[in-house]
Amino acid sequence: MYQKITVQTKTEVKPQTTAHLAQTMTLLNMGNGEVEEEIQKNLAENPALELDEINRCAMCGSEIAFGVLCKNCMNNQLKQDSQYLTFVSTREFPVSEEAADNEDYFEDGTVDRQTLPEYVLRQVGMELDDREKMVAASILTQLDDDGFVDVDILELASYHHIPISSVERVKGLIQHADPVGVGSKDAREALLVQVDELKRSKDIPEWTEKVISDHFHALLKKQFSEIAQQCEITINQVEKIANFITENLNPYPARSNWGDVRNPQENEMLQLGAPDIILSFFENNPQKPIMIEVFQPANSNLTLNASYHAALKTVDKETKMKMREDLEKASLFIKCLQQRTNTILRMAQVLVEIQEKYIREGDRYLKPITRAEIAKKLSVHESTISRAVSSKTIQLPNRKVYPLSVFFDRSLQIRTEIKEIVEKEKEPLNDQEIVTKLEKKGMHIARRTVAKYRDMEGILPAYQRKEKVKTK
Ligand SMILES: [Zn+2]
Repeated sequence: MYQKITVQTKTEVKPQTTAHLAQTMTLLNMGNGEVEEEIQKNLAENPALELDEINRCAMCGSEIAFGVLCKNCMNNQLKQDSQYLTFVSTREFPVSEEAADNEDYFEDGTVDRQTLPEYVLRQVGMELDDREKMVAASILTQLDDDGFVDVDILELASYHHIPISSVERVKGLIQHADPVGVGSKDAREALLVQVDELKRSKDIPEWTEKVISDHFHALLKKQFSEIAQQCEITINQVEKIANFITENLNPYPARSNWGDVRNPQENEMLQLGAPDIILSFFENNPQKPIMIEVFQPANSNLTLNASYHAALKTVDKETKMKMREDLEKASLFIKCLQQRTNTILRMAQVLVEIQEKYIREGDRYLKPITRAEIAKKLSVHESTISRAVSSKTIQLPNRKVYPLSVFFDRSLQIRTEIKEIVEKEKEPLNDQEIVTKLEKKGMHIARRTVAKYRDMEGILPAYQRKEKVKTK
């Protein structure tokens, strides 16, 4: 029954039947978490399917201990002087001892130091499916130092192919997590979320929400009489509201205490559970080949129940038919899983080959590629690559985890350039001047696109950057 996964072959093993193709495509579309659920479901439903007690390397078939990489494959690839070392892994995550020893992972040897995005994602993650988690991650990774982010709900919905209402739900969950109000657009929105949360346990002075939502600027400037006049309440009432806000609310969620520790770091990427693929350097040396580790879902090898075949001889005709059906189903499921791993593995190799400079040297070296180009290289259909990319995450050698779609982000290289241009500017450059600078580097993009990317990077327009310089 054992079928090894062929890594080096250029041609796709053609699926035998439509059932095979359909199931492979469904599995390919899923992240490892979902596939693990599917495996558990099949194990529970189908007595012909079993977990193999022996852990075999999915690439060469040799027996290996759980939690290690295959030495056989390692040696073979090193002998061949391969540029990349590829593995199908059954290791537990987090994988390497270096990672556990690294002070970034543990402080005082015990406390798990986490960033604000991680801290929030842990609270809301349970209530989200894989796609919603991606949306939560993209919202949380854009938080500024105050814990704010201006979420473009429409753009997120279309980018992640989920309904607008789902994006709104994700944002709402984030805002009501600790520190309450995080992920809001600004201080005003954060305060309103906090009032909403406090209402459940406390009496809120009348008019509080209206004053925050309609008279926020007057409130900041302590123009109490003006607020009183417009709301037709007494100054006393306004002062009471102002005191309540000062004592109970925090306009800047990220500056409040959250969790056990505080370590907000800008642009920190998130740990979305165990990644589907891990890239690292051989012997942890950036001069050495890149190791590609594709994680096998459920860390397990599936096999057919050995006693099932023998039992076929002793049962009546009807049972025999049912058992045959079970066996066929089980064997198909195993084949489809192998095909899924095989496709992800081959795609990962091609991606690493193309994006090696990005992986080794950073964002500005990301090559603009499309799923169609990768499909062509692997002689598969574009939809196969779309599925293989969907819901998958990859950990780069810098130990940050990204959605696999990061390799296809055409805007990243340009966004990085814009960031660098602004960092180096002596006088604030307007968007048109940035367009000209980019053109000199051979990048031709429209002014409104520059404006959009500038926003994505959290860079203010030139006239506001001017004000910032003045107030310094
Ligand atoms: Zn092996």
